[in-house]
Amino acid sequence: MQGKVLYIDHEKCTGCRECELACSVFHTGASNPSRARIKVFKWEWEGIYLPMTCQNCEDPFCVEVCPTKACRKDPELNRVIIDKDKCIGCKTCIVACPFGAPLFDKAEGITVKCNYCDGDPQCVRFCETNAIRYIDASEVNAAKQYAAAERLLGTFPKQSI
Ligand code: SF4
Ligand code: SF4
Ligand code: SF4
Ligand code: SF4
Repeated sequence: MQGKVLYIDHEKCTGCRECELACSVFHTGASNPSRARIKVFKWEWEGIYLPMTCQNCEDPFCVEVCPTKACRKDPELNRVIIDKDKCIGCKTCIVACPFGAPLFDKAEGITVKCNYCDGDPQCVRFCETNAIRYIDASEVNAAKQYAAAERLLGTFPKQSI
């Protein structure tokens, strides 16, 4: 993969939720985390905080299933975007996404998702611990990612995964 990506290091996340607030304020003008395109999942008893947002997949299911072509790849910024004028709010992309990334915005009656804030990710700006970074894909260390994912999975009791 080429271009920039949102890189999340869950081991640096403190669960402060500033990223959710920054995202919702930037995109909706309201401080309402339920309208943010990023969600911070918390397992407080294990001390685990996991920010989740769109993976901007190389071969995305959301694009494949969208009946109006509102959801499409944008190679320029290495992302998948939803054209609000074409979205009919059918939620098919929400069902298709394996990461729970698209969000139905009741206030607008359409589906929305992370769009990298057009190249200036607000979640990155407001994350004080650098748990989220916007970096070149070539900087992503896959081996390090797998090791972190294995540590994360090993933290959960078997019955919870
Ligand atoms: S702003 Fe950073 S540290 Fe705070 S919840 Fe989001 S990712 Fe975690
Ligand atoms: S919405 Fe889901 S399927 Fe579509 S690019 Fe993002 S993570 Fe991939
Ligand atoms: S909700 Fe919008 S973006 Fe999603 S599949 Fe339907 S028309 Fe496409
Ligand atoms: S890059 Fe922008 S749209 Fe995506 S999660 Fe961060 S703040 Fe929200």
